[in-house]
Parts: sequence; C-alpha cells; structure tokens
Amino acid sequence: MPLGNLFVMTGASGVGKGTIRGRLLEYHRMYYSVSMTTRPPRPGERQGADYYFVSREEFEQKIAQNGFLEYARYVDDYYGTPREPVEEALRSGQDVLLEIEVQGALQVKRAMPEAILVFIVPPSLSELRRRLLVRGTDSLEKIRKRLLRAEEELRLAPEFKYVVVNDQLDKAVSDFAAIIQAERLRQPRM
Ligand code: 5GP
Repeated sequence: MPLGNLFVMTGASGVGKGTIRGRLLEYHRMYYSVSMTTRPPRPGERQGADYYFVSREEFEQKIAQNGFLEYARYVDDYYGTPREPVEEALRSGQDVLLEIEVQGALQVKRAMPEAILVFIVPPSLSELRRRLLVRGTDSLEKIRKRLLRAEEELRLAPEFKYVVVNDQLDKAVSDFAAIIQAERLRQPRM
C-alpha cells in the first residue's frame, strides 16, 4: 500500500494544466513525475525537465518492459509516465503529481483506485480554442485534432473525483490546493 498520495491532474490540451502545476509546485512539496514522449521538443523545452524526449523505438521498448504506469497515444505521439520513480516516491511517503491526458488518467484509475483524479475543464470549448491559438505552439491541423479530442473527453467528467473549472487561474490554483489539503487531512485508509 503506497504511503504517499497520488494526485493526477488531467484535462484537455490547452486548458492550463501546466500553468496550474507550476503554481502548485511553488507552494506544495510533492514529487512531480516527468513524462516520456516521442514528440519533438518545442523551443525552450529541456530534456529531463519538461519531458524525456525519446525515439519511438525507445518508447516501445519501455512499453514492452512494462516500464510505464500508464501511457497513451495522443494526436500523433506517445506520452507515458515512467513507473519506477513514481512507485519509489510513493513508497517513501512523498505525494506525487502527474499531469497527463485523459486516457492515461483513466488507466491510472484502473491500476491504482486510490489515486486522486482531478479533471480541469475550460469555461467553454470556444475559450479552449482561443487559448490553443494564442499559445501558438501547434499547427492549425494539430489544434483542430486537439479540440476534437477535448470535446470527446469532456463527456468523461463523471469518471473523475474532482472537477476544477479553469476560468480564473488564481481560483483554479486555490481550488486544486484545497483538494490537496483535504486529501492530506483524510484519515488513513484502514
Ligand atoms: P503536449 O504535447 O502539449 O506537451 O502534451 C499533450 C498532452 O499529453 C497534454 O494533455 C499532456 O498533459 C499530456 N501528457 C503529458 N505527459 C503525459 C503522460 O505521461 N501520459 C499521458 N497519458 N499524457 C501525458
């Protein structure tokens, strides 16, 4: 039985997960799991800090070795959570934060039912489209694919323990922080 809490932040691309995560990690001591991906780095992204950027062959090898807690094919690439560091952190009593897309979050829920899943939603799909356009990191074709995926994923909201609307960033961060605090105050499971 893990000693730390496993917090899983999920939601559509562009909904603000990365920004919320950055703010939370400033104030809450937790182990942040750096994902592995086959997507090429964007300008400014650093190997081992933003992601472990690997080839498709390396990723598939790690799948074959059961090296991922979860992984998913997202738009045109693979993304996954390396299993070992997360299990190690939980065993040592640290709380862990994952920031992953929805299919991966559902895999974690199946594998570790005690994980605390938090679904971040945009105030509307048109606002999400605007944020993806303003972010400017993806081609229009990729943005179109990401929006289609977001629309499908919103139907899965009932699967998650908590839903946080990211309309005002400060409010979303404090809502997430309240979830962390409440979960830390829960009685240990007997
Ligand atoms: P991006 O290409 O914008 O960095 O990420 C695309 C999507 O993949 C985002 O929703 C991001 O949260 C998600 N993602 C990042 N790391 C992982 C991971 O390890 N597993 C899964 N399933 N999704 C991830």
